[in-house]
Amino acid sequence: MFFKYLQRLLDLFFPRRCVLCDRILPMMPAGVVQPVCPECKKGLSYVREPFCMKCGKPLKLDQKEYCADCLRTQHHFTGGRAVFVYTGPMKESMYRFKYSGRREYADFFAKEALRTQGRWLSKIRPDCVIPVPLHRKKLRKRGYNQAEDFAAALAHQAHAHVDTHLVRRIRNTTPMKGLSAADRKKNVNGAFSVDEDRLQYFGYKRILIVDDIYTTGSTIDSIAKALTHEPDREIYFLCICTGQG
Ligand SMILES: [Zn+2]
Ligand SMILES: [Zn+2]
Repeated sequence: MFFKYLQRLLDLFFPRRCVLCDRILPMMPAGVVQPVCPECKKGLSYVREPFCMKCGKPLKLDQKEYCADCLRTQHHFTGGRAVFVYTGPMKESMYRFKYSGRREYADFFAKEALRTQGRWLSKIRPDCVIPVPLHRKKLRKRGYNQAEDFAAALAHQAHAHVDTHLVRRIRNTTPMKGLSAADRKKNVNGAFSVDEDRLQYFGYKRILIVDDIYTTGSTIDSIAKALTHEPDREIYFLCICTGQG
């Protein structure tokens, strides 16, 4: 009761804002605040079928089963999915989630991920969830890792196990924005190291890597490559957003 009252007071002085458009959210009766305003809710761009069987990108009209990227690339991961298409106001939302400290978005993204991909997740049954790590220098500068927040919210809601110690980013890579697919691959090649002792100890067989945005898959691939020295290990990923296939 007290916390509910406190939350209402907080909402009054620090009104919550829409995850998509960043406008102040209307207070519903009984003090309930939805994370997304009614207009943005209508326009949310979920990834819908048909999507790529490998990476989960929405397919264009002339594409069948696999996107253009997966047809020409031999990925190291087993498969993956994304919740939203990286377009429109979702782009700004991702920016605020990543750079402007809007860490509270993680709950909404995790909830939507479980609502839309819960069946797929229960089919692959991952042993652990691994957020794409930031290099320690970048983490110190930014103060938090949005992928880690998403992983924590996801694991909390799905009662899954997060491991933030298994994979480390050993090279401080340059931002991927504006790089070609080949340059992206070069940029993250060998950028991650895996704690082999930890991997052996826990004996993970099915690993779920999580990140905010999937573009060409080079980051996920680089981690998957470092994790698949044993051929029977399955590496999946779940991203909040993905580009068009
Ligand atoms: Zn909105
Ligand atoms: Zn694909």
